[in-house]
Amino acid sequence: MLNGHVSFFDQVNQNFDRAARFTAHPQGLLDIIKTCNSVYHFTFPLERDNGEVEVIHAWRAEHSHHKLPTKGGIRYSLDVNEDEVMALAALMTYKCAVVDVPFGGAKGGIRIDSKKYSKHELERITRRYTFELVKKNFIGPGIDVPAPDFGTGPREMAWIVDTYTALSPDKLEGAACVTGKPIAQGGVRGRNEATGRGVAFVTHEVCAIEEDMRAVGLSKGIEGKRVVVQGLGNVGSFTAMFLQKMGAVIVGLIEFDGVLYDPNGIDAAAIVEQWNALRRGEKSMQKLDVPASLRWSGSPKEGLELDCDILIPAALENQITDENAARIKAKIIVEAANGPVTSGAGETLNQRGALIVPDHYANAGGVLVSYFEWLKNLQHVRFGRMERRSEEQAYRRILDAIAVRTGKSFTENELSNLAHGAEEADLVHSGLEDTMGNAYKNLLEIRARHKVDLRTAAFIDAIDKIAICYQDLGIFP
Ligand code: NAD
Repeated sequence: MLNGHVSFFDQVNQNFDRAARFTAHPQGLLDIIKTCNSVYHFTFPLERDNGEVEVIHAWRAEHSHHKLPTKGGIRYSLDVNEDEVMALAALMTYKCAVVDVPFGGAKGGIRIDSKKYSKHELERITRRYTFELVKKNFIGPGIDVPAPDFGTGPREMAWIVDTYTALSPDKLEGAACVTGKPIAQGGVRGRNEATGRGVAFVTHEVCAIEEDMRAVGLSKGIEGKRVVVQGLGNVGSFTAMFLQKMGAVIVGLIEFDGVLYDPNGIDAAAIVEQWNALRRGEKSMQKLDVPASLRWSGSPKEGLELDCDILIPAALENQITDENAARIKAKIIVEAANGPVTSGAGETLNQRGALIVPDHYANAGGVLVSYFEWLKNLQHVRFGRMERRSEEQAYRRILDAIAVRTGKSFTENELSNLAHGAEEADLVHSGLEDTMGNAYKNLLEIRARHKVDLRTAAFIDAIDKIAICYQDLGIFP
């Protein structure tokens, strides 16, 4: 804490401490879990396209080595600092535990505004960052595996895997050094949209619990729920599109420089299409071709206070704070971003009876599918490649037998719909929904047992799972 300001990492630890009181673990063990194991801050020079030289600041934090590799995204943002990467790495540890992904948590960041650099400059920055991580043993399939985060995507992950494998050409499993890669570089189908798909699925599950909906004054079911999404990047855009498909009404979309609002609903898919068509450095709400009536006059920050049932912050941390918490009207807040609700604001919202779905459960779809990608890279074979045809043939045999027994044959259309073997994307979606659904049931059970909110339940779950692991490991030497 500095001058009354609670840092991001301290906020994560406050939430941890609140939950730890419901566990019986010794303080020493809790301290081991909470501590960030390693933080690497480094600098390197960049020669810009115009010949000027600039010093770049970069970090990688590995929060917990109780399971290896560690895992977490790489963020490009001017706000990146040591506290932020430590907080985000800690959240990764707890997130992996909640969805049973066998990794410790990590996070990396480079302090740049990616919009201000050319593609070639970003490539040089990314490759040098990777090289520095290799030098210090902070990256590798069994060591630490980065992924995309704010300001990065499949393109940056392709540069990372290429740099890493160029430096270790004999490593058979080299492609598993990073996830979120393009498919042609060993990525897995479904990873790009995984976090948003997971957030939408979780929101659907939350709305399906009648008791919870009654408690917040809403009817059961996702259909017709009025949703505001902050951030049209990877997570926000897919979340909005999947929710729209599920029958929710997207009433507001918030970006850094503008807000779109229509109480009757916005066609999120059409807006996302326009947004994605803008070049990286030129993305702006002002450049969208939309009716003037759709443009809301308030500021992006005020957009969070719009009248809606569900608010989904999917941009950055510290968006709902002590300053604006009392004015937030949403009855459900689903934390698609990491740390969007400060711990003080969370208390205000809880007292008001709002339901907060915590980040380290809500946005875990990304790391979950990253885990599938890592497994695919180690196996060197696409999911479903061996069994798809065999499954199809088995279904055909069953359908043929049914046709013989009933004397009624299936049409070709029915046959191709019913006798469909699982493709890679089907398996990834199935793994995502199965894990997120089971994790939610588990959290609801913990919530009921301890009479706590969902965030505390998710921390209790993570602490218990990690504690068992540390207890089994003992202390070396
Ligand atoms: P992104 O860079 O793809 O998108 C972020 C979007 O937020 C951008 O469109 C940006 O313009 C917008 N934005 C920035 N400041 C804003 C503001 N003040 N108001 C409104 N919009 C603003 O990043 P992302 O990958 O979608 O990540 C978003 C959040 O989700 C981050 O907190 C990240 O840590 C978290 N997250 C991402 C993943 C993933 O798989 N990418 C997984 C889990 C969690």
